[in-house]
Amino acid sequence: MKTVHAYGTASASGLLAPMDIQRREPGDHDVEIEILYCGICHSDIHQARNEWGNSIYPMVPGHEIVGRVTATGSKVRNFAVGDLAGVGCLVDSCRNCPQCAAGDEQFCENGSVGTYNSLDKQGQPTYGGYSGSIVVDESFTLRIPGNLDLKAVAPLLCAGITTYSPLRYWKVGKGTMVAVVGLGGLGHMGVKLAAAMGAEVSVLSTSDSKEADAKRMGATHFFNTKKEDQLAQLRGRFDFILNTVSAPNSYDMYLSFLRTNGTMVLVGAPPTPSAVTGFNLILGRKSLAGSLIGGIRETQEMLDFCGEHGITSDIELINFSQVNEAYERVLKSDVKYRFVIDVKG
Ligand code: NAP
Ligand code: ZN
Ligand code: ZN
Repeated sequence: MKTVHAYGTASASGLLAPMDIQRREPGDHDVEIEILYCGICHSDIHQARNEWGNSIYPMVPGHEIVGRVTATGSKVRNFAVGDLAGVGCLVDSCRNCPQCAAGDEQFCENGSVGTYNSLDKQGQPTYGGYSGSIVVDESFTLRIPGNLDLKAVAPLLCAGITTYSPLRYWKVGKGTMVAVVGLGGLGHMGVKLAAAMGAEVSVLSTSDSKEADAKRMGATHFFNTKKEDQLAQLRGRFDFILNTVSAPNSYDMYLSFLRTNGTMVLVGAPPTPSAVTGFNLILGRKSLAGSLIGGIRETQEMLDFCGEHGITSDIELINFSQVNEAYERVLKSDVKYRFVIDVKG
């Protein structure tokens, strides 16, 4: 075991402070990664504060990890010391069930192992990327395209794959009328990715201050859903809505913005339930769906796609001492558009 410096929380107060954690020595199939940058996902806040009711303490959040390989096990084939490497939301799964065989490890029927707030196969708690290093099986380690700015790659490991996966699954492409609800960490990646896939993208936001940024990221239209006069234009307009909102919101209102046969996919995960009126689906054969991150193979595909298209996240780089303040700013939708921790800073 190796003692590693980390930043985490001891209780549902969610206040983060320095702490030490233990990392295993790399096994035969493991890579040890010195963490350079880690993104702050809104899920870190939900879990640090036990808003989903499943938190394990002490908790070291962080599942948008990039760094450099510092050691490899004897059977590691795809990574060498000195390589760049990434780790997203998953560090293990059963690898045998139909979901794992299909590359959907996030839906492993025997329970995938999350990068933090999870128990590994030995029953030990996992600790995330707000820390100096991590040891991960190479099967759950991603290769990073060399042409991208590393610190702005970190958010791709969750925000990138969480938006890429539903865009691909629902076959968004040239001519698809897409709306992205919420221009935060997930939303801004959804805009960039959908635009790169050829869709006509609208942003539905509650923050007027984000309009110019939305258009720079590839959106053609921007609507403020707090302004009644803008809502009439949205009725029946979209084939596909990606809802990234972290707080309770009106699913009924957004469903009314879908065309016949349209689909709204929820990726935003507010802790409390929201009502949906069946007629808003029935009248128009509409679908309401959900999507969870993405499997390892698809995460690599997304990183390669971002490499080819020069796509990264818009980030604000901070150090550990600013993490609590960053959490407060995320909660106020004051994020442009992902906080990333400079772990060595
Ligand atoms: P974020 O950066 O905080 O972005 C959320 C955005 O939603 C805000 O910037 C804001 O955008 C909008 N918003 C916030 N409160 C709102 C409200 N009351 N009504 C309408 N819009 C509101 O969060 P994130 O990191 O992108 O994560 C978003 C959600 O996705 C979280 O619940 C997170 O846990 C979840 N998540 C899910 C998955 C998955 O696999 N499904 C993966 C990662 C994260 P505007 O200012 O533009 O309105
Ligand atoms: Zn996340
Ligand atoms: Zn499985």
